[in-house]
Amino acid sequence: MNTIQLLVGDEGNRTAVRRLLEKHYEVDTDRTVRKADLYLVDDRTFPEYHTDLSERVEQSHPVFCPVVLVRREANGVQISLPNPNEREDPVLVDDIVDAPLDRNLLFRRLDTLLVRRRQSKDLMHYVSKLEKSNASLKQFAYAASHDLQEPLRMVSSYLQLIERRYGDALDDDGEEFLEYAVDGAERMRDMIEGLLEYSRVDTRGEMMETVDLNRVLEDAIANLQMKIEEYDATITSDSLPSVEGDGGQLRQLIQNLLSNAIEYSGEDPPRIHVSAERVGTEWQISVRDDGIGIDPDDQNRIFDVFQRLHNHDEHPGTGIGLALCQRIVDRHDGRIWVDSTVGEGSTFTFTLPVAADPGP
Ligand code: ADP
Repeated sequence: MNTIQLLVGDEGNRTAVRRLLEKHYEVDTDRTVRKADLYLVDDRTFPEYHTDLSERVEQSHPVFCPVVLVRREANGVQISLPNPNEREDPVLVDDIVDAPLDRNLLFRRLDTLLVRRRQSKDLMHYVSKLEKSNASLKQFAYAASHDLQEPLRMVSSYLQLIERRYGDALDDDGEEFLEYAVDGAERMRDMIEGLLEYSRVDTRGEMMETVDLNRVLEDAIANLQMKIEEYDATITSDSLPSVEGDGGQLRQLIQNLLSNAIEYSGEDPPRIHVSAERVGTEWQISVRDDGIGIDPDDQNRIFDVFQRLHNHDEHPGTGIGLALCQRIVDRHDGRIWVDSTVGEGSTFTFTLPVAADPGP
C-alpha cells in the first residue's frame, strides 16, 4: 500500500483529510518529514516544511517524488505551478488541489502521481541494472581481449620458432599444417585487436570538437590509397558539413565504410559516392557503392560483433568493422543503417546531430 505523509495542519482540517485518505492509503501523520511515496501539505504549513521537503525531493532525485499542496479558498496565499519549461529541477510542488476537496478528483490525482512515482522508481531500477551490466560487459570485453593477447603472442612466437628450427625437417603435410596454424594465430590476433579497439570506443575516445568531414574523408582516402589502387576504385563526394565529434573516430567510421564498399564490390572496379543531406536537426551521411549488395535478412546482424557473411578465403576481415561503426555512431548520438539490393549495391547511412550555431 502507498504511504502518504500528511503535513496538513489543524487549520487545514487535518482530521477530516486524514479520515478521507485512510480508507485508501497508508497515512503517516508523524510531523517530522519521513520517507513516503507522496507528501500532502497545505498552503499554511507549507513554509514550515519547505526546507525538509526540498531535501527529501532532492534526495530522491532523479526518482520523481511528488508533493501535493492543498490550497484553501480565499486565504490570500497565492501559489501557482510554474510553467513546466521554466521549472527548476527538482520540482517541489507537483500538483495543487483546492479545498473543499472533491474526493473523487483528489483520489484520481493522487493515484496518477503514485503510479508515476512507481513507474519512475521501476525505471531507475532498470537503468541502474543496465548501467551495471553495461559496465561489466565493457570491462569483460576489455579484460578478455587484453589478457588473451599474451598467450596468443606465445603461440605465435613458438610457431615461428618451430618453422625456423624444424622447417626443413617437415614434409609437405607438416608445412601445410604449420601454415594453417600460423594463419589461425594471425586471424585471432586481428580479432583480439578489433575487440580491444571496440571496447575502447567509449573509454579512450577523444574530446568532442568541431570536425570538418571533408578533411576526415581526405584522411580516410589517404589511408586506403593502396587498396583503392589495387581495386581501381573511384571515390566521389558531395561537399560535407562540419560536425561536433571525435575526429579520429569519425575517420575510422568513414574509412571502415569505404573499405567495405571497395572490398565487397564484385567484378567491376568499384564506384563509390559519399553524400550529405540535412534532415531537420541531423545530418545524414551516406556511403553508396555499386557492389554485391546484402540480403535483407542479413542487414541487421552485420552490425554485430564478429558477424560476417563471407568466409575468410573469399574476403579477408574480422567482422568487427561495422560493429565498431555502430559503436562510434552511438557515441555521437546518431544512428546507422544500410539500404541494399543484392547485386545492385549498398548504401550505408549514418546520422550526426547538426552542430549548434556558435552565434555571431
Ligand atoms: P568484415 O568486413 O571484417 O567482415 P564488417 O563488420 O565490416 O566486417 O562487415 C560485416 C559483413 O557485412 C561483411 O563480412 C560483409 O559480408 C558485409 N558487408 C559489409 N559492408 C558491405 C558492403 N558495402 N557491401 C556488401 N556487403 C557488405
